[in-house]
Amino acid sequence: MNTFETDQAYVAHTYRRFPVEIVSGRGSLVKDAAGKEYIDMGSGIAVTSFGVADEAWIAAVEDQIHRVQHMSNLYYTEPCARLAEALCTRTGMSRVFFGNSGAEANECAIKVARKWAAETKGPDCSVIVTLENSFHGRTLTTLAATGQDHYHELFQPLTPGFAHFPAGDLDALKALCAGGKVAAVLIECIQGEGGVVPLDPAFATALEAYLREQDILLMVDEVQTGNGRTGQLYAYMNYGLHPDVVTTAKGLAGGLPLGACLLGEKVKDVFSYGDHGSTFGGNPVACAAALSVFTRLTDSFLAQVREKAALLRSLLEGAPGILSVTGCGLMLGLKTEKPAADVVKACMENGVLCLTAKDKVRLLPALNIPENLIREAAGVILSACR
Ligand SMILES: *Cc1c(COP(=O)(O)O)cnc(C)c1O
Repeated sequence: MNTFETDQAYVAHTYRRFPVEIVSGRGSLVKDAAGKEYIDMGSGIAVTSFGVADEAWIAAVEDQIHRVQHMSNLYYTEPCARLAEALCTRTGMSRVFFGNSGAEANECAIKVARKWAAETKGPDCSVIVTLENSFHGRTLTTLAATGQDHYHELFQPLTPGFAHFPAGDLDALKALCAGGKVAAVLIECIQGEGGVVPLDPAFATALEAYLREQDILLMVDEVQTGNGRTGQLYAYMNYGLHPDVVTTAKGLAGGLPLGACLLGEKVKDVFSYGDHGSTFGGNPVACAAALSVFTRLTDSFLAQVREKAALLRSLLEGAPGILSVTGCGLMLGLKTEKPAADVVKACMENGVLCLTAKDKVRLLPALNIPENLIREAAGVILSACR
């Protein structure tokens, strides 16, 4: 059997894969088993922040692999400590819990919110409110947090204690909070899986003011939007927010599994010894990879991300067949006249890998994609949209 057949036979059918087998790559170019080359405008869903097989990333991973590839959390390892320091220094957050994925980072945030609220406001204060159309992960608890019914239907009963409200509707949130049972509100600044839908800045400001006044935690899910993706280190920085908890994963380690839950001053000491844990969380190889990514996300690099984003956006916005462009930085959603899936298929045939999100074509290229590849990919996308 070839790879397609073996995978079909033995891997659970949870992904409707394209008939393409990726075997190698360099930067924003990847190659399939037939030798065909593609410009990667998805970067593994915002994971390979510096592209595929990036040399500095490989060097950081290789160096750590030769030292120690894993150690239990009973002992200290330097990459974990240094990465937590870097995350806190750049964000003003106070402590970090490391897991292995976005869902785990959000699980951690939810546990922090529940324990904090139980201790400070009483045991009945346990509800986590999220936005309608949000996405927070696939575990039973993060599915409950996800504000999209179609993810819920087959997996009842989900973890109780979640409620959702439409973005922009502060009165709906106030109604949910009226009973004094809401511990935290968890938001995405730009809903990724929900179709690249940005939060209205005026609403974000009003939301933060209301949560401060009510002493309810503001938690931001930066799993997709984080680590330079939107042209700022974290998307909440575009909105001038001051979250109590920030979760991130995807692009953090540039291609190895790593999730982080950043805890602000108010909640930094909520967890005590034994309250939470993870065998692989804070793995030294994943943390060394993340240090290689994170230390390169300097202000001048982020300015370049914004320049690349402006170029990509200008090439696509207003073009024939493209109805709208949403998103920020190198996280763009295109509403197209043709069905998004047809556009993605045509792009693939012509050597460009794109994603969809709901009814949109979604672009999440590597943060260092060179200008010539931006122009080339945009040309292919434009002809697929016409
Ligand atoms: C992808 C994603 C998650 C889930 O991350 P996993 O690593 O797949 O568990 C959670 N929240 C957001 C906003 C995401 O985009």
